[in-house]
Amino acid sequence: MDRRHFIRQGALGLAAAGLARPSDLLAQATQPIFDPIGPIVPVRALPDRIFRITVCLRPFRATGPRLDSEQVARKLVVHNYGHGGSGWSLSWGSATIAVGKAMANSPKEIAVIGAGALGLTAALTAQRAGAKVTIYAKERFPHVRSARATGSWTPDSRVAMANAVRPDFAAAWSGMTRDSYAMWQSYVGLPGDPIEWNDRYTLSDLPPDQMRAAYRATEVMGFAHYGEQVADITPRSQIFEPGTHPFATRCALRNSQMMFNVANLAHLLTADFLAAGGRIETAEFHHPSDLGRLKEKVIINCTGYGARALFRDESGVPVRGQIAWLLPQAGLNYGFVYKTVSVLGRRDGIVVQDLGIDDRFGFNEANETPDRAAADASVRTIAELFAGRAFAG
Ligand SMILES: Cc1cc2nc3c(=O)[nH]c(=O)nc-3n(C[C@H](O)[C@H](O)[C@H](O)COP(=O)(O)OP(=O)(O)OC[C@H]3O[C@@H](n4cnc5c(N)ncnc54)[C@H](O)[C@@H]3O)c2cc1C
Repeated sequence: MDRRHFIRQGALGLAAAGLARPSDLLAQATQPIFDPIGPIVPVRALPDRIFRITVCLRPFRATGPRLDSEQVARKLVVHNYGHGGSGWSLSWGSATIAVGKAMANSPKEIAVIGAGALGLTAALTAQRAGAKVTIYAKERFPHVRSARATGSWTPDSRVAMANAVRPDFAAAWSGMTRDSYAMWQSYVGLPGDPIEWNDRYTLSDLPPDQMRAAYRATEVMGFAHYGEQVADITPRSQIFEPGTHPFATRCALRNSQMMFNVANLAHLLTADFLAAGGRIETAEFHHPSDLGRLKEKVIINCTGYGARALFRDESGVPVRGQIAWLLPQAGLNYGFVYKTVSVLGRRDGIVVQDLGIDDRFGFNEANETPDRAAADASVRTIAELFAGRAFAG
């Protein structure tokens, strides 16, 4: 069986499952009798239910996020950008490191450049550390790239290249991941469910033992993965054999994952920042020397992919990803990967995303123009899965 066939059987879902590594996943027992799959609401997978198509660029750096500091235009600039496909997931932990550096000399005021996931969380963290904070940004929600993320807990998704990171990066990553995880837990159960847990399924016709090999075949770039370091905070997965699940595939692998309802979450973070006295000003910087005009002496740089142009950081590589948004459906609160397509039922829409046949998909592509034909094709793939099947729910 060739690689393409493996992948088309749904093996890529393991990658989309974020932290869950094949060895972790496939070691799990079949499901206990008291924990069956609940009612599954079928996706109304029709291209005419696409209400928008968004494209986002993951701000990838082979060496991982930039968190060092430097003197620029007589300011202390602490960098906090380049989180690849893990920006939402790592944000609070990354903010803890950046704000720790920014507060070293206890400044009264801090400027944060950027109002995406990293900017908002850094700004809130700096406020909580006692600083008066102003965010300066070219765009704010919903126009920032962070607004166009899938919304999954994926702290080691395209975060670095295994052969390019410093030896201490894995430990730093683990610290960031744990800090973020702890903070995001405090948002679970709030009105509007900014963060919630849900079940994800990897749907495949392959038997579980072949899924591992199929997954390895999709990893060609050498991205770093550290899932085993946080196995203690990662819910176990379960395999459902034929006849024990409602899907049209042979097997279904289930794991539970945190999900960010990004629209609601961004409103909440922004409201919290403003309520604590924060200010947001629209500003664009074209050169590092432009930072000299700010009144604050300490600046946290959270410009994401924008840092490539602003700081001439050629190590920043765009990784393109497109989402077709299907109209939200009540009760559709799960996610799955089928063939190369990932689906996640969020409050603000059903996220449909093509993952490509391996992890080269979208790498070094800076084109942010939506591709309607690709969006329709992804939705049709999902339609195949549900065609002609009766579902509870
Ligand atoms: C398709 C896709 C799916 C993703 N899914 C997930 C996921 O499920 N989970 C996850 O954790 N991560 C995910 N990511 C990654 C995540 O979206 C990014 O890591 C994150 O959004 C980066 O946030 P940021 O705040 O650094 O950048 P941005 O959101 O791009 O914000 C940058 C801010 O800086 C400002 N700015 C930039 N340049 C300048 C300038 N010169 N002057 C002034 N202001 C400037 C911008 O206006 C903006 O306010 C996904 C990414 C993509 C593309």
